[in-house]
Amino acid sequence: MNILIMGPAGAGKGTMSDLILKEYDIPHISTGDMLRENVRKGTDLGKEAQSYMEAGKLVPDSVINGMVEKRLQEPDCQKGYLLDGFPRTLVQAQTFAEIADKIGKPVEAVIALEVDFEILKERITGRRICPKCGAIFHMKNHPPKVEGICDECGAELSQRKDDTVEQLKVRMDEYEKSTKPVIDFYEGKGVVTHIDAANKPAEVFEKIKEALGKID
Ligand SMILES: [Zn+2]
Repeated sequence: MNILIMGPAGAGKGTMSDLILKEYDIPHISTGDMLRENVRKGTDLGKEAQSYMEAGKLVPDSVINGMVEKRLQEPDCQKGYLLDGFPRTLVQAQTFAEIADKIGKPVEAVIALEVDFEILKERITGRRICPKCGAIFHMKNHPPKVEGICDECGAELSQRKDDTVEQLKVRMDEYEKSTKPVIDFYEGKGVVTHIDAANKPAEVFEKIKEALGKID
């Protein structure tokens, strides 16, 4: 099962990814992790990437594509893969499609998580985090026992700087602008399933399984 998952911050992409990985026994391929690993191992592509990063430049698509191509041919990808955070642009999607076809691992399903703006707003602006132990609460959905205090360690809870309506709007606009061409590209291949991610995680995951079940 070759899957690509997309969704704006706050749509529960991390939770759904974990559930998919367990259910289908496939590896999680995120370009961030892949970059770090290549750099750590000192591969040729890693060294090349590092030279760009040290110069404060973006790592070019050609390097990322090379890493993805290698990564998808590793033994743990035999049953498939879950791509996350890549491809990010239309050009990346087009080039990646060529590579994936070449190695016989084209994307079979794109799961596009969608959440209504109002719901995302509630999820994000109600979020409180513990700066000391990292515990996450929500004023309405998962409030701490004592208002403003971490259940785990007693520290005072705070709000992430960018968990505001204004920042959310900016992030959503950016997300839509950048991912629309990618989603359209895969729409053209007939592999996209739009999933309403506003429901409970278990319900959302049922919908995902239903969509993926149609592939086999
Ligand atoms: Zn805490």
